[in-house]
Amino acid sequence: MPLAGPGAQVNQVTNMAAILRYILYPFYLFGGVGLTFLTIGQGWNLNVVHGSFSVFMVASLILLEARFPLERRWAMNWASFQRDLKYMVSGIFTEVALRWTGSGIALFLATYNTPSSTKLMADVPLIPSVLLLILGFEFLQYWFHRICHEMRGGVGTFLWRTHAAHHLPDRVYVLMHVAAHPVNFSVIQGVLTVAAVVLPGFSPESVLVFGIIMGVNGTFSHFNMDIRAGWLNYVFVSTELHRYHHSADMSESKNYGAVTPLWDLVFGTFVYKPGQSPARLGVDNPSAYPHSNEFWKVMALPFRRAKKPNTVPKLSPPTVPPLASSRE
Ligand SMILES: [Zn+2]
Repeated sequence: MPLAGPGAQVNQVTNMAAILRYILYPFYLFGGVGLTFLTIGQGWNLNVVHGSFSVFMVASLILLEARFPLERRWAMNWASFQRDLKYMVSGIFTEVALRWTGSGIALFLATYNTPSSTKLMADVPLIPSVLLLILGFEFLQYWFHRICHEMRGGVGTFLWRTHAAHHLPDRVYVLMHVAAHPVNFSVIQGVLTVAAVVLPGFSPESVLVFGIIMGVNGTFSHFNMDIRAGWLNYVFVSTELHRYHHSADMSESKNYGAVTPLWDLVFGTFVYKPGQSPARLGVDNPSAYPHSNEFWKVMALPFRRAKKPNTVPKLSPPTVPPLASSRE
């Protein structure tokens, strides 16, 4: 019996990657949602189950992309890991600050006997609630995200500079998805989430299911592995769609949705090229920006005085491809 050589090992890796590319995304997405339903039904501790699932998902995806990377040049390295840690700490501080602020506002409202939530949606059944949450949040998120990329003038430049922290990395992988400026993060968490999720008063269960879908998609969409989601790309924002959002080629860096591509499909910014990857990731003109590893310079970018309006080039011109031609 012949010994298995290096060629056989390469074949095994290729075969394994070929299987994983179709099953991983549905496994984590539907597995996470199923686990949440089970947790609600069984009355398990939600924080423990969600925390464990998140740690398992992130750790396993990091190991998988290290073993089966789509592109080695986009893999995490020591320098990018150190950068990600800084953004992680900044994200935790921002989250804590937002919670304190939110608690302060809730306390103020309670003191003056004003309802802090309308509870309008509390009695809507679970599945319609989750659908409404996704559609409502994504509508606000889509337009805020698109404005950050495409709006001109002083406000547009400021918003782009707060969002650029997420686009300066020239490699996209699981852990880099934490790269965000606190101002951008605060608007999404403190304004959009409050407006679409908290104020309408959805039930805690529906918010939980929505949260797990957000968490899986936010993590998975930056995954550096060859993932093929097929028809699911028309329902959820998978890796194949979001990687194009990080393309350095302005004509294809669309796909502003975070959970669903519905609003991209409606407003003509949907880009799907099955089996293809962007040639380069990052911004179109990296020399005009601080390097993504220069954390404090990236933090200061939105507040830097521009000599002329729009000194920093925009990521994307406000041209929107027609819906039909943007699908491939
Ligand atoms: Zn973006």
